[in-house]
Amino acid sequence: MSTVLPLHEPLPRAQAPRPGTPDVQKLATRLRHQVGRAIADFGMIEDGDKVMVCLSGGKDSYTLLDILLQLQKKAPVSFSITAVNLDQKQPGFPEHILPAYLASLGVDFHIIEQDTYSVVSRVIPEGKTMCSLCSRLRRGALYTYAEANGFTKIALGHHRDDLVATFFLNLFFHAKLSGMPPKLRSDDGKHVVIRPLAYAAEDDIAAYAQAKAFPIIPCNLCGSQENLQRKQVGLMMRQWERDTPGRIETIARALGDIRPSQLSDPKLFDFLGLGAGTAAATAVARPAWHDDPPAQAS
Ligand code: SF4
Repeated sequence: MSTVLPLHEPLPRAQAPRPGTPDVQKLATRLRHQVGRAIADFGMIEDGDKVMVCLSGGKDSYTLLDILLQLQKKAPVSFSITAVNLDQKQPGFPEHILPAYLASLGVDFHIIEQDTYSVVSRVIPEGKTMCSLCSRLRRGALYTYAEANGFTKIALGHHRDDLVATFFLNLFFHAKLSGMPPKLRSDDGKHVVIRPLAYAAEDDIAAYAQAKAFPIIPCNLCGSQENLQRKQVGLMMRQWERDTPGRIETIARALGDIRPSQLSDPKLFDFLGLGAGTAAATAVARPAWHDDPPAQAS
């Protein structure tokens, strides 16, 4: 049976920074701790796993790969890492950057070449955001590659702030209390997707990426704009964090501390059974309490 063992190391004790100690060390320790804790809490990586790290060329996926490679050296389980990038053939994509960087690390890697850009720009009318279809096609190509090559886990670079933003997008625009989980099985049941940066703050990742001078490839080469709703939620979160520092962390912690009996979903908590009489009495009494909703005008 495979084992899941904690990979995280204790947080460093608070101490006065030694002159000349680069902040990057502190950030790296914090990120390793958070990633290790997420891996342990959600059983993300097991002995013998083949982990495919999806690398877009953005700060998040560079940081994910970097921290996983550090953890791999002292992890209590043995797992392999392969970095995989999808070259979507956006105009101006600097295709030499990632191979050069990955070769310099000595990490196993593969670049998939698939022209999803032409598909997206053909299907989406000019001026509309292309990101949603582009991401779906990217996901499809990466999952297909993972299946063909026997990867047991697909690691994505989403972080704490992405998890919180998705929660608010679903809340505000889809009337759902639902988010982006740190670990999930893909819809087709074939893949386990993990998000080891689930506890890491975007600001820390940005600072780390800058300090490490990762060769960032911007995700706006295609000229597409971010979805307006996501933009609104991002602005709201940044404003909250400015007004009340620590609020995003509080919300992120709340996502892991859910009390179904304090919400209103009878599928998650047996409200009907609460203080009810016999099952027969409940079944008789219930239908009388509401009319059927009016039929929709066609
Ligand atoms: S900005 Fe362009 S490349 Fe990036 S996700 Fe959106 S459509 Fe795709």
